[in-house]
Amino acid sequence: MRFLQPVRISGLVLRETPFGESDKMMTVLTAERGRISVFARGARRLKSDFFVATQLFCYTEFVLVQSSEKYYIRECSLKESFYSVRNTLEGLALASYIADVAADESTEECEHAELLRLTLNCLWTICEKKKPLPQIKAVFELRSAAYAGFMPDLVGCAGCGNYNFPVYYIDIPDGTFRCEECFRKNAANMELYAARENEAEGIYCDAHLIVPVSPDVFIAMRYAVYSKPERIFAFELSPDALDDFAAVCEKYLLCHMERGFKTLDFYHSVAEK
Ligand SMILES: [Zn+2]
Repeated sequence: MRFLQPVRISGLVLRETPFGESDKMMTVLTAERGRISVFARGARRLKSDFFVATQLFCYTEFVLVQSSEKYYIRECSLKESFYSVRNTLEGLALASYIADVAADESTEECEHAELLRLTLNCLWTICEKKKPLPQIKAVFELRSAAYAGFMPDLVGCAGCGNYNFPVYYIDIPDGTFRCEECFRKNAANMELYAARENEAEGIYCDAHLIVPVSPDVFIAMRYAVYSKPERIFAFELSPDALDDFAAVCEKYLLCHMERGFKTLDFYHSVAEK
């Protein structure tokens, strides 16, 4: 087996799978190489030098050697464990969901500095306990979807171009919004189109999920997408607005990822009790 030069790289442990008697396989998110698979030999032994820094959610500096598509640890040292996400079951459930989505959205051997920064920022904010978990979750969902190539256009109404309205109709699959007037005009056009399709094919396909939101929720969405990375959580919402914000951001992410997440189901099962 021929090894390449060792690389020094920092990464966040997003997933771990036990392997053999004491080894484990990890999915690690890095800024420079995106998602990588790292094999940690003996890391499940308490006495292993790798034990501490290879736990789930650890942000660790690794020295790795690459062989075929895997990396093997030569050295590692812990930078941040984010251990406090485990202080509450809801916090742990949210951290697990965020790690799951980050693993799904990232690609191998691609630069992912923004997604890594966002994910670290979310874990940090869960530990800090200064922001409601639904707010952290929603910001992560919308912003990470934007990083994954599904940037919504929240600048102006898709019909008239204006942006100051009492209600905003968010077109989830399109990632656009309309004011009430333009929404009604457009809905009428879509119905006509659907009716014509019906006649031709006998199928009514309503692919457009449209969610009306209040100005507060709309401003929060713009904030999550457009603010500087260090400011993404610097806003507050009333409990009702936060519920709506959480709902629309979750729909947005799931629609564009085209899948559900077991970790999300688990989060809901513990967060809504
Ligand atoms: Zn309009």
